[in-house]
Amino acid sequence: MRRGGGGGGGGMMDDEGRVEHAQIPNSFGHELRACLRCRLVKTYDQFRENGCENCPFLDMDKDRDNVVGCTTANFTGIISLMDPNRSWAARWLRIGRFIPGCYTLAVSEELPEEYQGMCQDNDVQYHPPRRA
Ligand SMILES: [Zn+2]
Repeated sequence: MRRGGGGGGGGMMDDEGRVEHAQIPNSFGHELRACLRCRLVKTYDQFRENGCENCPFLDMDKDRDNVVGCTTANFTGIISLMDPNRSWAARWLRIGRFIPGCYTLAVSEELPEEYQGMCQDNDVQYHPPRRA
């Protein structure tokens, strides 16, 4: 396993400590999971170690139960977004304000209610999946 030095954190940080883009999945096997709130795709281990860059309030890096609860292996399609602000796909997927990374086109599960509550507590919008 490759580990970043300096301890803690993940992804690239700018001077203000903000994450500039999400970790890119380092494998495309069955352990890939998508965040149920923002649809960011990473491996289970990446969520476990660094949480979701868009949804730090879900505390996935603090408790792996949160990784299991807030992500799913059940998703369809992946797109890689390097410039979400200018991407029509990102606007369509309503991820234009999320950080660049890999996202899935569709998840079929809803974020469990207790985590939807955490979104509300943090003034974060949650869009349930579109019904086919
Ligand atoms: Zn997320």
